[in-house]
Amino acid sequence: MPETSTLEVTPVVAIPPHLVGQIQSKLAYVDEAIAAAQVAESGDRITLTLRSAGNAAEIEAKVQRVVQEMAQGSIAPRVEILEDHLARPVSYDADPLTELLARREVYEESTGIFTFGPLMSRLIEYFEGRFLQLAAHFEAQPYRFPTLMSAKFLDRVDYFKAFPHSLTFATHLREDLDIINEFAEKAKYEGHGLNSPAEFFSQIQALLSPAVCYHLYFSLADHPLPNGQLIATAVGNCFRYESNNLTSLERLWNFTMREVIFVGSKDFVLEKREQSRLFMQKIFEELGLAYQVETANDPFFVGEFRKQAAFQNAFQLKYEIRARLPFKDSTLAIGSYNYHQDFFGRHLDITLPDGKPIHTGCTAFGLERVAYAFLAQHGFDPARWPAAVREALP
Ligand code: 5GP
Ligand code: ZN
Repeated sequence: MPETSTLEVTPVVAIPPHLVGQIQSKLAYVDEAIAAAQVAESGDRITLTLRSAGNAAEIEAKVQRVVQEMAQGSIAPRVEILEDHLARPVSYDADPLTELLARREVYEESTGIFTFGPLMSRLIEYFEGRFLQLAAHFEAQPYRFPTLMSAKFLDRVDYFKAFPHSLTFATHLREDLDIINEFAEKAKYEGHGLNSPAEFFSQIQALLSPAVCYHLYFSLADHPLPNGQLIATAVGNCFRYESNNLTSLERLWNFTMREVIFVGSKDFVLEKREQSRLFMQKIFEELGLAYQVETANDPFFVGEFRKQAAFQNAFQLKYEIRARLPFKDSTLAIGSYNYHQDFFGRHLDITLPDGKPIHTGCTAFGLERVAYAFLAQHGFDPARWPAAVREALP
């Protein structure tokens, strides 16, 4: 075990309860010396575990800056609960990860990168099939999207300002014989990564996709939308670098999302989003899932946080489906119903027949999390599973 030390910080601005979790997860990005961060529920104490002594004064100053920017003047959003099924009966109360690891059903290839065996794969396939029923209900058109995403387009939709901390970049060796030869001879995984110098690598043209629906909007850019509306569905790999928060199956660097995507007028998108929620309510009931649906905001980076998060909350742009995790008495977002207003229409110049920018929205499910939450609630004995799942799996 490398040596660690502890640094206690008393925040200059008290952290209000609604920001405790969000500030805690942001602290992972404050300094490379921070191995773990804990914000007390009372919001008046932060405990940092440092990898080395680091420069404590510098780290504390950066922590205070994050707290100040996120907490000062922040007003608790009015969380509206649209559905509450948290009391639905469940039959398991342990962390399924323990059993999954013991059965070699999941294997952690590297931090935040997991492979899944037959049980998880069958569960995910089954749940995805249920989400495809939602797609079929809307006669959604199927699409296939790449894992890489264009840096040029991500820039056009201001992604770098909103979520810089969670980006994952794709690069390759520069086209240079000497560099390629030297890499081939000397590249080694040493300490915490490859030993190759940064100058060997190309400028960034592509990133690993942080979301699925963006690919659809990019493909529609700079044109009027034929017929003025479109419903699409796609599944894809998504990547969000979560630093020290990459623990367990709750947060993966690489996860998969199935989305149903709505493009059209404001009324069209809002109506489809609501129909999605009502349709899924019946499916989640059959799956025996204990969950609630509530208003939420995306995890914006510090600089954008207050404005954007408040805006999303105030206009109810995001509803999260939060499944109960009985073993830790908390909930985990397994999906979301999103409305982006005309954000993508404006930034990407996609227009309705009347020339106005289109509106977009999506219903998105994190497939690994759905399977994980199901096992957390119903365990590993199929005899105790809700009938729909038990009968569907071999
Ligand atoms: P959103 O676009 O609402 O942030 O993400 C949609 C869904 O993707 C979330 O509700 C969640 O199920 C899943 N998701 C988001 N981030 C992560 C993550 O770090 N790990 C995993 N496993 N799933 C995630
Ligand atoms: Zn989406």
